[in-house]
Amino acid sequence: MGEVKLKKCRRCGHVFLASHISKRGLCPTCGIQAIQEAVEQLKKKQGPVYEKWRQAYERSRELRLQRLREFHQERRGKPRLPELDKVVVDMRIMPREEAKKK
Ligand SMILES: [Zn+2]
Repeated sequence: MGEVKLKKCRRCGHVFLASHISKRGLCPTCGIQAIQEAVEQLKKKQGPVYEKWRQAYERSRELRLQRLREFHQERRGKPRLPELDKVVVDMRIMPREEAKKK
């Protein structure tokens, strides 16, 4: 009881109270630095953080389109659903000019 747990920051190597080290093994200073670096990568659209984000984005986009294709396949020949237009707007797959008008 009362034992003080210490942990080393994965980035700077300084020792901190274990409770001050993040899940990813960073001290508060390095944690903030890592966030700033990630934001920079996303802004510049390059770097490992950006690449990871882009791949996840493309996967999710493919999945959404696949679901939409399946939906239309299933609906083929059936009467039009009045709420469908709303669904399309929500999924943001409208051309940009169309979307701006709304
Ligand atoms: Zn650190």
